[in-house]
Amino acid sequence: MTKGRGEVRLFMNRRRIAGAMENREILIEVNGRRYRWPSRPVVAVCIDGCSPDYLENALAAGIMPNLAAFKKEGFFSWADGVIPSFTNPNNLSIVTGVPPSGHGISGNYYLDSQTGAEIMMNDPRLLRCETIPAKFAGAGARVAVVTAKDKLLGLLSHHLFTGIRFSAERADRCTLPGNGIEGVPSRVGMDLPQVYSPELSYFVLRAGVKILETHRPHLMYLSLTDFIQHKYSPGTAQAAEFYRLMDAEWGKLADLGAVVALTADHGMNDKTNPDGSPRVIYLLELLDLEFGGGACRVICPITDPYVAHHGSLGSFVTVFLFNRLALVPVMNFIRRLRGVERVVDRQQVFFEFELPPDRVGDLSVLGDASTVIGTSPRDHDLSALGHLPLRSHGGLAEQKVPFILSRPLSGAYARRAQTERLRNFHLFEFALNGTM
Ligand SMILES: [Zn+2]
Repeated sequence: MTKGRGEVRLFMNRRRIAGAMENREILIEVNGRRYRWPSRPVVAVCIDGCSPDYLENALAAGIMPNLAAFKKEGFFSWADGVIPSFTNPNNLSIVTGVPPSGHGISGNYYLDSQTGAEIMMNDPRLLRCETIPAKFAGAGARVAVVTAKDKLLGLLSHHLFTGIRFSAERADRCTLPGNGIEGVPSRVGMDLPQVYSPELSYFVLRAGVKILETHRPHLMYLSLTDFIQHKYSPGTAQAAEFYRLMDAEWGKLADLGAVVALTADHGMNDKTNPDGSPRVIYLLELLDLEFGGGACRVICPITDPYVAHHGSLGSFVTVFLFNRLALVPVMNFIRRLRGVERVVDRQQVFFEFELPPDRVGDLSVLGDASTVIGTSPRDHDLSALGHLPLRSHGGLAEQKVPFILSRPLSGAYARRAQTERLRNFHLFEFALNGTM
């Protein structure tokens, strides 16, 4: 028996209503941006210290078949990270979707101008906004955050009360109440890696694959370490091996049905003279000579407890002036130093680089592609470098990073990628809202 017109209409309406229920859009708002509830797992990876030339080299050598597939079938581009091109500000931008002026983490280290105390920026109390993983977890999503070094975990897992959160560095200490998982090394099938090793990053990626298999989180953030990039330039055998092994894990994540989203916190450059020796401006020493001892204080925000591969030398420092020292003469003095790319005051650093003005000095100084800036030689121990060149980051030359998705973009997002300045902190938005 054929259905009457009325019955057909009712049937169609029911279908439409059911369809609308299934496709109902749940939007999670985080820091002024709305993110779609994922229909398949989204795994975002921050490849610490991945300058574009590592990927270009590896693709040309044909050693990253999964990346080549993402490039062909998904989305492959470059984006700008945030300045200073350091680990903490960029990781926090990626997980919050906003620049440092929004989240407050201006470096690994800062000077509290109220108290004069130098403060590590690992404390989540310094964070001024929510993270995307925490907001999704709060709305009931399954979330996992895995970092290589433990220093980042507190910030990245801020307000993450459920879900999986741990560092590879301390994976052996995980407990169900504290980390949402236990017995991690045996689950991953790897011994606990050394903190200065490429294995620390492999551990994070393999843990990500295992968690995707067993827990199938809606959202996962995997943050690696730049041990290899600090030591070995693109084209070396060590770098090739590292990228080849990472590629294999990205392939497993994609095969398990995840949208794989790749970016980096910063790039990496040789900071050397033509003879291979480190090219350093010891800024405090020069300022003391020019303006008298105690007139300035130089803070190196790259400083952290893991200094072996850069001796706390990066291409961004911030300078505090005392004794009513005038700004302009100091700016002009610094600007004339060879290897200095930019000198900006507090206002400029906010407007141009979107840094929180209360967490930088009176002046911020950026070194060029081959120059790092320090305080004075006695504060920087470079003996751990051995025979290897000093490779570091922090400036504009290390701002360009990959921005890669394993799946293609919708028309609207493909157009945005063409017309807007892509930032690494757009990664979750593009992966959640823009992939098909
Ligand atoms: Zn980094």
